[in-house]
Amino acid sequence: MSSEANTPVLPNCIRLPLPEDELMEVVAKAKDYAIMHGAAMRSKTAFSPDSLNFAPFVLVPSSFPRKEFEKAVALQPIINRLMHNVAHDEEFITTTLAETIKVDEFTANLFNIYRKVLAHGFTQKISLGMLRSDLMLESCCPELSTQAQRPAAGEDTAVDGMDVALAVNSVGTAAAGTGRKAAAAATEQEEQLKRKAANPIQSAYCCWKQVEINTIASGFGHLGPASKIIQRFVLSELGHADKLHNMPSNNALAGLCDGMVKAWDIYAKPKAVILFIIEDVSYNICDQRFHEFYIRETYPHIKVLRRTLTEVHKEGKLGQSKELLLGNQEVAVIYFRAGYEPGHYHSQAEWDARYLMETSLAIKCPSIHYHLAGTKKVQQALAQPAVLERFINDPDEIKAVGKIFTGLYSLDDNEAGNATYEMALRTPEKFVLKPQREGGGNNVYGVDIPDALKRMSRVERSAWILMDLIHPPLTRGYMVRPGGDMPPQIVEMVSELGIFGVVIGDAEHIVHNYQAGHMLRTKLSTANEGGVAAGLGALDSPYLI
Ligand code: ADP
Ligand code: MG
Ligand code: MG
Repeated sequence: MSSEANTPVLPNCIRLPLPEDELMEVVAKAKDYAIMHGAAMRSKTAFSPDSLNFAPFVLVPSSFPRKEFEKAVALQPIINRLMHNVAHDEEFITTTLAETIKVDEFTANLFNIYRKVLAHGFTQKISLGMLRSDLMLESCCPELSTQAQRPAAGEDTAVDGMDVALAVNSVGTAAAGTGRKAAAAATEQEEQLKRKAANPIQSAYCCWKQVEINTIASGFGHLGPASKIIQRFVLSELGHADKLHNMPSNNALAGLCDGMVKAWDIYAKPKAVILFIIEDVSYNICDQRFHEFYIRETYPHIKVLRRTLTEVHKEGKLGQSKELLLGNQEVAVIYFRAGYEPGHYHSQAEWDARYLMETSLAIKCPSIHYHLAGTKKVQQALAQPAVLERFINDPDEIKAVGKIFTGLYSLDDNEAGNATYEMALRTPEKFVLKPQREGGGNNVYGVDIPDALKRMSRVERSAWILMDLIHPPLTRGYMVRPGGDMPPQIVEMVSELGIFGVVIGDAEHIVHNYQAGHMLRTKLSTANEGGVAAGLGALDSPYLI
């Protein structure tokens, strides 16, 4: 994905570039600060269970339109309810995934568990949803992209009385150049900027669109808030403490962990534990451990266990009332941080473990139906006209949710799927092709799509969906990575905001439903994907403009 020439650039929260000596000093401090505040991961290249690397981070927070941020936060409880209702709609899930499971073995395995559980009845009717709705700003919103709302090419504007380049993709700073002429030009420009500072930033030319919704292993409940902590420190060190009020509060860790504890309360057995299902090797260890430690420190009477699927297969059994027992410990709540990709299931043993847990009395995050509701195929089906009406009653809410969808197209083996196929071959640069997978690195982008599609049979295409590419505005700043350039260079980046939501209930009632903080990931504008754990993205947090 490369940034196009007319991609808008969001203004920076402070004047960049920084003088080199100041930059070197603050970056060195920030790296240590990150490690010492748990913004860290295990190294993939030099793995050791005894050491950590700081997680890549963006030095200062990236600008994000306040109105869009607030809209996303306000919408989350509605999205929670939508996903809860979708997860409990057996007919919708079954018909939506019918074609996909014919060719996608992984989704078919999940669906088989669902089918078996449906046949025997749900032992535990309560589900714990810990969702993360991921979104990007779309700088080409058709409803907003009028000349009047977009700043003209090269035009500058200001945030908080600061100079900011809301230029259209032309690198350069306000006071570039030397000599008296340049100084005069810079002064004139500063005057102009000051005049414009009286006007609020025009962010109306961006609106956000949903990238996807995650219902399993929605990570960064710790790293989201930790990013803010690093950037708060950096801004203060650089003498900009006055700007901190534009960084929204972020209680994701507490919000998510409290969700697990609420589910534990519903289970109502004081000795029962919370079980984290983990990968064989957890690179994103800080994020997971901080969830565990928050629970242990805030609710010391609740024990937390960590087990792989393989270990659950070895140790797990059901008791007389179908309670999940690990040895002699009863499990109240299961929090899956693994189990979302085929590689986590080494053999039938891991699938058996998943089934065992699913049939148990433990409250699952996610239950199997929640997992299936989070597939890309279900997301694509939800974006079709009139489908939302099945799950949401309020017309205003339907409208608000409908607006966040960008074009999503079925590739099922039927007329609509064939039309999608033809469209993708004609204008591949407009799309991203997605399979039913999680964890990043699985999509096919733009010009690579035709070859990928042509290699598939018509039936095989049903395992995928096609989605309009979102074109986020750029930000410019420093990305700091372990082993990266010192001093770092200014790079062009794009961001993806994740809003967390917690929803607890059964098919008839929702007992808890709230928005639970956020996380921002930022990647180079030239990268297709920006997973931080995958090594392409960087921790970031929003600076509201
Ligand atoms: P996963 O479940 O593997 O995270 P995503 O749907 O989130 O799958 O896709 C992975 C990444 O691909 C996203 O984080 C984003 O960077 C990029 N991406 C996905 N969909 C789009 C889109 N429609 N437009 C632009 N980028 C996208
Ligand atoms: Mg995902
Ligand atoms: Mg994603």
